[in-house]
Amino acid sequence: VAPAVLVEVALPLPLFRTFTYRHDGSLPSPGTRVLVPFRTGKRIGWVVGRGDAAGLDEVRPVLEVLEGEPSVPPCLLELADWMAGYYVTPLGVVLRSLLPAPLSDASRAPPVRTRKVVRLLPPVPDLARREVLFARAPRQRECLERLEAVEEGRELRVLLEEDRFARSVVSGLEEKGLVEVVEVELLRDPFQGRGAPGPPPRFSLTPAQSGATAALLSALDEEASLPFLLHGVTGSGKTQVYIELLREVVEARGRGAIVLVPEIALTPQTVRRFRAWFGDGVAVLHSALSEGERYDEWRRLRSGEKRIAVGARSALFAPLEDVGAIVVDEEHDGSYKQSEAPRYHARDLAVLRARREGAVCVLGSATPSLESWRNTALGKFRLLSLPERATGAPLPSVEVVDLRAPRTGTGADGPRPLPAPSGPPPVLSPRLVEAVEERLRREEQAILLLNRRGYASFVQCRACGEVLQCPHCSVSLTYHRRRSRLLCHHCRHEEGAPERCPRCGEVELAYRGLGTEQVERVVAERFPTARIARMDVDTTGGKWAHAEILGRVERREVDLLLGTQMIAKGLDFPGVTLVGVINADVGLHLPDFRASERTFQLLSQVAGRAGRERRKGEVIVQTRVPEHYSIQAALRHDFPGFARRELAEREEPRYPPHVRLANVVVSSPDPELAAAGAEGAARWLRPRLGGDVEMVGPAPCPIERLHRRWRWHLFLRASSAGALGRVLAELVRMHRLPPGDVRLVVDRDPVALL
Ligand code: ADP
Ligand code: ZN
Repeated sequence: VAPAVLVEVALPLPLFRTFTYRHDGSLPSPGTRVLVPFRTGKRIGWVVGRGDAAGLDEVRPVLEVLEGEPSVPPCLLELADWMAGYYVTPLGVVLRSLLPAPLSDASRAPPVRTRKVVRLLPPVPDLARREVLFARAPRQRECLERLEAVEEGRELRVLLEEDRFARSVVSGLEEKGLVEVVEVELLRDPFQGRGAPGPPPRFSLTPAQSGATAALLSALDEEASLPFLLHGVTGSGKTQVYIELLREVVEARGRGAIVLVPEIALTPQTVRRFRAWFGDGVAVLHSALSEGERYDEWRRLRSGEKRIAVGARSALFAPLEDVGAIVVDEEHDGSYKQSEAPRYHARDLAVLRARREGAVCVLGSATPSLESWRNTALGKFRLLSLPERATGAPLPSVEVVDLRAPRTGTGADGPRPLPAPSGPPPVLSPRLVEAVEERLRREEQAILLLNRRGYASFVQCRACGEVLQCPHCSVSLTYHRRRSRLLCHHCRHEEGAPERCPRCGEVELAYRGLGTEQVERVVAERFPTARIARMDVDTTGGKWAHAEILGRVERREVDLLLGTQMIAKGLDFPGVTLVGVINADVGLHLPDFRASERTFQLLSQVAGRAGRERRKGEVIVQTRVPEHYSIQAALRHDFPGFARRELAEREEPRYPPHVRLANVVVSSPDPELAAAGAEGAARWLRPRLGGDVEMVGPAPCPIERLHRRWRWHLFLRASSAGALGRVLAELVRMHRLPPGDVRLVVDRDPVALL
């Protein structure tokens, strides 16, 4: 009998502790998955080290060691440990989020696909022997000879269906010991049938690209290199700089590389460029892949078969063991923050992982986050600039249309004079109409952005003023005209569109707050011959829907592409020479300290889609606040100017990047309990704050109720991450919430405060 060892196991449960089990055999390496009994069921957990039975009455046995090689390599286990501490999340919950879903769910076997293959077993019988063996089985002989003609064995299904052998023929050969039937793992290819990538482009690097590349390559030989911020204007050719770095890291040095992109469905062109250079060496961790496909890509990385991982935020956890480069494209993008536990920021973790594994880290953007920008000023990051477009095209000219001025325009009801500055602004100002018409005439393309989906963002009774609200959230319901439904964009509640006001019975209802669905209607009426495509959450439900719409635009089958922020990211269409922003103010007035920054980023990014090749681009921005500095800076393509102003705005009251922030949200279905829970947490915190850590609040959240839960929050801010972390850890582990359904969630370095 093998001597028993004690193993400490992390389980994916909301508990801040690990569990001790007994195992008959040697201690599995840390990071190995094990199946263990827990309460009355079974769970998959991860070995984190040797256990200690002191003080335990009963130690239950490990039921099964699930793998010979740990699914979590040591570098990722260390990263997980750091995340558990920093984001105040149990280690097992962090580990679960690092792996493909099937690996941590005991109720499902990982979806490995196999096929049966028939192979010859040596020695192959000589002719004389064949005469004897197959005297009464000529089909067996034919089958054997068929197998001799192929190299690696033949799939059983093919032998039966195409070669028309009966199963009993194969069984006969098996009984004679001449062949074996084995299960071979089949890895799915997510790009099957999606077309091969084209050849890599042939151009020489611009001087700015060469300079940036040289700096990155020389950092590869440094002992510990600082992260780089690659600030390149839209169209400056950042992608090619990443590719040059990867050619050295992966092809010349044989190391691995990770490339993060904000939302992979929206960046098919970027992915295609990597595949053009590195072909099948690229594992694409795409959200449209099935769980099984994603799991297969993960295994190809784990086995070293592929050495480049391209994907959205969780690709940062690619199980590569010798990472030489980590790239975060569009590093300012909010989608790098995960909104559920662990609430990590993939950009920050990229910096950390790169440092720990000796990789070069590049964060790229035309509109860097203020956090990264400030880090260059503090000497923590090194700044590389690509100030001009790679194709030599100038940046587009940006022009503002003031929606407050009384003017005529095309509204939802066709052309009409607008009465007063306070009336609803036209969807398309005459200036924008004229610019679109010009594009249609010249057979160029235009992009129209409105960052709000649906038809109307609220429905209001014309008699009593009632606004229809979600029954579960304190937000208005959005009217979707085609489906004739009212939808909550937060909890997905939906109901039929009302005939009359539910409060006073009035039949006259006003549909206010312009959304993309309405823009589509207005545009289709105004430009009846134009080919229009709309891209927003409502039109991109299908698996490859994004790619299909973008493909049509690329093939010039679309004249006008309209949509939400989805169309602002990373697209490179030479035919687009006009970008119109229908209303730049959507999002500008939200009660969130990042509202101005997001507006600037969105305007700059969408503007960057125009005129990327020979023809000069033009951008028209419709707004009611033309003097706002976000809009003014976007108009001048002036990121440094914007950053200077915005950093000053965040001095008083102090907000990131000047301070570290945590948002603590207490919620409950009972409004009193939510308030009491928040007050209680605040009372508990107050004596523990100490010098550097301050508290603001508690107060109701800007969205007071979500998913049937009432929400209160408080901020903790500090100049050092360490002090803040200590207070948060104590709060989560030691503070007792009032009894009942009350939850406390800590969001460190939050990107959204609603
Ligand atoms: P960014 O990511 O900085 O917005 P991209 O990497 O998408 O820019 O490049 C913009 C366009 O310029 C692409 O069509 C790309 O093929 C092209 N490009 C990149 N580098 C060069 C170069 N050195 N010479 C000519 N064209 C280039
Ligand atoms: Zn809702």
